[in-house]
Amino acid sequence: MSRPRKAEDPTRWPVPCARCGQHHQTVARWPDGGVCGYCYQQAKRTRGTCACGHEGVLPGIIDDQPACRQCSGIRLNIDCESCGAEDELHSGGRCWTCVLGSVVDDLLTDPITGSIANELVPLAAALKSMKRANSGMTWIRQRHVTAFLRNLAVAPKFSHETFDELPDSRTREYVRGLLTEHGVLPRRDELRTRYENWAAEAIERTTEPQNRELIRRYVRWHHQRRMNHMDEVTRGTFLRAKQQVTVAIDLLNWLTDHGISLPDLTQAHLICSSHLSRA
Ligand SMILES: [Zn+2]
Ligand SMILES: [Zn+2]
Ligand SMILES: [Zn+2]
Repeated sequence: MSRPRKAEDPTRWPVPCARCGQHHQTVARWPDGGVCGYCYQQAKRTRGTCACGHEGVLPGIIDDQPACRQCSGIRLNIDCESCGAEDELHSGGRCWTCVLGSVVDDLLTDPITGSIANELVPLAAALKSMKRANSGMTWIRQRHVTAFLRNLAVAPKFSHETFDELPDSRTREYVRGLLTEHGVLPRRDELRTRYENWAAEAIERTTEPQNRELIRRYVRWHHQRRMNHMDEVTRGTFLRAKQQVTVAIDLLNWLTDHGISLPDLTQAHLICSSHLSRA
């Protein structure tokens, strides 16, 4: 994440940065010269393998190549006091990964028991090991994410229903996905099953046997077939499929009540019945 740069100020900072050549405040004097805040920041975040074989942060520059502290003679505090890793520090002498770790622990700990529920341990591990801990911090610090995780920490049980009861959001679906991936929640086939059960009952509401057969086929060949091609039936699909079948049943029942058979159906009837289905 690079911050947008401020405009240069050659009057205030007459000596340009040794690295980018721009006139900004010099924040450090390194063997290759005075460096500005932007280059300092970038140096702390440069990672790779130095010519000497050292793998980690390469803040130095030797022959235009990134170099480690030892080779470049740059003194920079990038040793995490908590995990010992060589990494950009966030605060309190700790790296971003360690700080993210404590934020996750804090959010997922149930204040009553003082520990993280067993079911949430894999989630905690997944959140802590986000590849880019600084993006992870930005994500987790958002108010709605924080609130969501706190709620989850005290949820009495973990099921798709628990999730459905929490406010609908991308966070909810993201966390649901993680828990599914880690086997805490089952892959969601449950909406498919619920639809099957719902449809079996709904079909029975069709009054005329021939129409009932028509609805049965509509359910099977249109809706269920589509659902069976989906990895996971979404709530939207589930609700739409219910609604469309309900409308179709209402229409056919209306026709039956008015002594109209499907082949006799005219545009005029359709207009009448569309009022009915909206009612
Ligand atoms: Zn610079
Ligand atoms: Zn080196
Ligand atoms: Zn650390």
